[in-house]
Amino acid sequence: MTRPQQAHVVGAGLAGLAAAVRLSEAGVGVVLHEASPQAGGRCRSYLDATLGCRIDNGNHLLVAGNKSAMAYIDASAARDTLIGPEEAVYAFLDVANGERWTFRPNAGRVPWWLFQRSRRVPGMRLADYFQGFRLMAAAPDDLVTELLPPGTAIYRRLWHPLAQAALNIKPAQGSAQLLARVLRETIGAGGAACRPLVPRVGLSESLVDPTLATLARQGATIRYGRLLRAIENRDDRITRLRFDDGDEVIADRQAVVLAVPPAAATRLLPAIVTPDEFRAILNAHFLCSVPDHAPLFVGVIGGTAEWVFRKRQVLSVTISAADRFVDMPSEELAPLLWRDVCHAYDLGERPMPRWQIVKERRATFAATPEQQRKRPTTQTRWRNLVLAGDWINTGLPATIESAIRSGFAAAHELNGGTL
Ligand SMILES: Cc1cc2nc3c(=O)[nH]c(=O)nc-3n(C[C@H](O)[C@H](O)[C@H](O)COP(=O)(O)OP(=O)(O)OC[C@H]3O[C@@H](n4cnc5c(N)ncnc54)[C@H](O)[C@@H]3O)c2cc1C
Repeated sequence: MTRPQQAHVVGAGLAGLAAAVRLSEAGVGVVLHEASPQAGGRCRSYLDATLGCRIDNGNHLLVAGNKSAMAYIDASAARDTLIGPEEAVYAFLDVANGERWTFRPNAGRVPWWLFQRSRRVPGMRLADYFQGFRLMAAAPDDLVTELLPPGTAIYRRLWHPLAQAALNIKPAQGSAQLLARVLRETIGAGGAACRPLVPRVGLSESLVDPTLATLARQGATIRYGRLLRAIENRDDRITRLRFDDGDEVIADRQAVVLAVPPAAATRLLPAIVTPDEFRAILNAHFLCSVPDHAPLFVGVIGGTAEWVFRKRQVLSVTISAADRFVDMPSEELAPLLWRDVCHAYDLGERPMPRWQIVKERRATFAATPEQQRKRPTTQTRWRNLVLAGDWINTGLPATIESAIRSGFAAAHELNGGTL
């Protein structure tokens, strides 16, 4: 379509924010509508009353090779809000025998790290790593465990934690193609692309607030507490957005970016097919600080916790594909997780401090081959409406990178492919 004069972006998660910032940079007038009182969606920080401090809704890990996420952060000059080691270093602990190691791919594309035992997972043979190449030829229906067979030491210590974290699904159900795409853009691009990055302060301070400030400077408007209830269309155009507090008429040269989660998108436009199966992520936050020289995060093999992150005021556990835990009482889970936290950060047997457990039941769509087929493209049958969200078919699993890439693609589409 010809570039619109004004765009209504519905949903201020990262996909909506990314679309909004690209459109307003290009001189399109942007009005962003968000149902909740806060921007950020599934990637935000807030004050937790139990802990008495700000926490993130979940630990989010970026890597330097997340090109769209880096471009998004750079658009608001916010790169210095992220911290991470100088090189790609991933610390691991195996709780079964207390063994610790670091996984350290070298910076360049030529993987000479494979020949250095100190950079590999202990006990692994060089040949074990070449299993990963099988993934690169994955067919659409292949599952991760069909190409990376479980039962081997490298599966337990590397492929399983990596696949489960990247896809947020049990690898036996996960799409091998989606994992292959993640690996191609990270390990396949060299260790420099794997350098882990986390917010210095919080998710909102890195990924939301700087973008809101940029949007305000560019003259965009953001309206909170605006729940979109219905979309009206005539022929091949959207004509009206019905919010619960009033309507927006969509005139000529106005366009809409629908950047809401998949279930909301199909409710609003039943003709759109979207993923409809989801997986949970569980985060447990313990009020406890450890020194700055301790690793930013530790991968826990064989525990209940999967990853433990060192934050400013809390140590935070992440469990992916956590559906088996969502109905377990938090009072039972907390001590199990605290034991792993103490082990990961060598805290001895400290009494459990104040804690909070956050269960996001619909954290991401299920990264199965079947759900992958339900992901739509950005374009729709309506020429003034495009879609954005981590569930759009970006070829990546539901991640920050996928959400931002979809937002950029939506802006590009509205600008007739000129952005
Ligand atoms: C606990 C957790 C941990 C995660 N960890 C990682 C990680 O380590 N690395 C990584 O890359 N990704 C991670 N993710 C995934 C990442 O957070 C998401 O992929 C990303 O935030 C999705 O952004 P989005 O804009 O597509 O959707 P959302 O964030 O869901 O945004 C949609 C927005 O639309 C609004 N909305 C909904 N309905 C309406 C309506 N009718 N009208 C108006 N507004 C509406 C919502 O309030 C929301 O703000 C994690 C997710 C969770 C939940």
